[in-house]
Amino acid sequence: MLFSDIADTFAKLESTSSRLEMTTILADFFGHLKPSDLREVIYLSQGKLHPDFYPVELGMADKMVLRAIASASGYKEDKVEEMWLKEGDTGTVAESLISGKKQMSLFSQPLTLKDVVAQLTRIETAQGKNSQATKVDVLTGMLHDSGPTEARYICRIVSGRMRVGASAMTILDALAQSFADKESRPDIERAFNVTCDLGLVGETLAEKGMTGIDEIRVKVGNPIKVMLAERLPSIPEVIEKMGGRCAMEFKYDGMRAQAHITKDSVKIYSRRLENLTDNFLDVGERLIQNLKGSEAIVEGECVAIDPDTGNMLPFQMVTHRRRKHGLDSAIRDIPVKIFMFDILYLDGRDLTHLPYERRREILSQSFDMDDMVGLTTMGIVEDEVQAEEFFDRAIGAKCEGIMAKSLSDTSVYRAGSRGFLWIKYKKDYHETLTDTFDLAVVGAFYGMGKRAGKYGALLMAAYDQDTGDFCTVCKLGTGFDDAFLDALPSLLDGTKVNTVPSNVKTGLEPDVWFEPKVVLEVAGADLTLSPNHKAAYGWAKEDAGIGIRFPRYTGRLRDDKSAEQSTSVNEIYDMYEMQFSDGL
Ligand code: ATP
Repeated sequence: MLFSDIADTFAKLESTSSRLEMTTILADFFGHLKPSDLREVIYLSQGKLHPDFYPVELGMADKMVLRAIASASGYKEDKVEEMWLKEGDTGTVAESLISGKKQMSLFSQPLTLKDVVAQLTRIETAQGKNSQATKVDVLTGMLHDSGPTEARYICRIVSGRMRVGASAMTILDALAQSFADKESRPDIERAFNVTCDLGLVGETLAEKGMTGIDEIRVKVGNPIKVMLAERLPSIPEVIEKMGGRCAMEFKYDGMRAQAHITKDSVKIYSRRLENLTDNFLDVGERLIQNLKGSEAIVEGECVAIDPDTGNMLPFQMVTHRRRKHGLDSAIRDIPVKIFMFDILYLDGRDLTHLPYERRREILSQSFDMDDMVGLTTMGIVEDEVQAEEFFDRAIGAKCEGIMAKSLSDTSVYRAGSRGFLWIKYKKDYHETLTDTFDLAVVGAFYGMGKRAGKYGALLMAAYDQDTGDFCTVCKLGTGFDDAFLDALPSLLDGTKVNTVPSNVKTGLEPDVWFEPKVVLEVAGADLTLSPNHKAAYGWAKEDAGIGIRFPRYTGRLRDDKSAEQSTSVNEIYDMYEMQFSDGL
């Protein structure tokens, strides 16, 4: 398989913004690939060599990539850098310079998919003193053998900035179109949600069809997309939606953890599938000790505990555990307890298909509980009065609110989906009449006065899961303290781009654009129609989107969320509608 065919397909994808067209391009292409090649192509389309949760990333520094472009093209490094400063993308620079060189080169070999994967693997695994030089050499070699389009994508992949616009959902659509049918699409998505491995799903489907997909089960070591909750604005509505009776659990304010435990090892993943095992080594070890069986996958909330009083500490304290430096002292000084709320797998059995009560029972029987490993507090409520009492108890215990959980026979663990089987209700809804939003930073405006020379306000966007776009909902300039303002450049500048990213939709023109990567929690007074913002544009009114009024940064950097896990446009619209019913 020639890499140029793959690069040409990426170029076709990039030239359209229609998801339907992308699906057709991919479906046509996928149909011609060997199953194992399909797996590699899927990873490459996401700018990777492995599934998302794989711990090593390619990510070469831009300067190194520019050095390789210079040496492969024969242009001087400063000329290459000058061009890059103008274009803001190593891929575009490589494409134009390599194209000049091509006419002269007689010795290049056509690159195959196998070559590209092998060379990228060398880059990924290079270690030690000379690793930077090795990476530059390997990349130079690849660029020598590349045509312009191939060079564009190779550089983007190694820089960690691949953006052909094919989201995971589009890949799943294309797989269904190519190897199955529309009706099978939900089952293919389920297979992805329980493995988080698009490549595996593609290869299995191409090789074994839907029979293979139906056999895909949760597996220890493969993170599972987390199940998410809907929100409702009042306790009576929660109870009504649950049919008058449901389970309620305290909603702890910590960090979600999915632990994959065996007899002698553990892996802990965050809700965005980052491997946080080293940050929670103590909790992990205790989970291994306390598990009564041999293998399990559980979910829980990791909460920092005051070592003197045993009380739960605010969310900010557990974030000290995300540090790279000083982690040892954070582990020593800030004890953490995991409050488990679900079990997805136990000793060879996929439990995701069991109803909530059965899973809870298995969870409670599967571990010895102690000061570091416990269960969320849970009760069954049968009416509003009991529910309000439970909510008050949760707030009294310093929790954020409650999670209501359905007791119906269909209350399975729905990996990767947000639905009314779980409903969250928080203290915030009582006090400020609004939930918070987790929004991606897509732009910045330079400040004035006291903020001159700094970013003074940020342009914030919600995620549209149907189109893969980030649609702005507010300009955020309140709630920043001096330390945060000073930290903004180092937080954001790595994601700076020269023009508006194709997946960002807004009516505003910030001074600086960013690729959506960084997520901040934002509170607001209410939601309102806005001609400048593009979230849910045209849904409530023809020529208006929905914006957040009086947005304020809560001080919570959501580095446990990827940009695609920002509050969705659908949620924003639902919250907008809820304002007219009651509360929120
Ligand atoms: P969301 O997860 O809904 O996108 P979020 O990450 O901002 O949003 P919340 O909206 O506050 O979080 O609520 C869901 C989160 O609450 C879960 O992801 C989990 O981390 C946490 N949580 C705390 N207690 C529980 C519980 N008892 N059951 C389930 N989740 C809980």
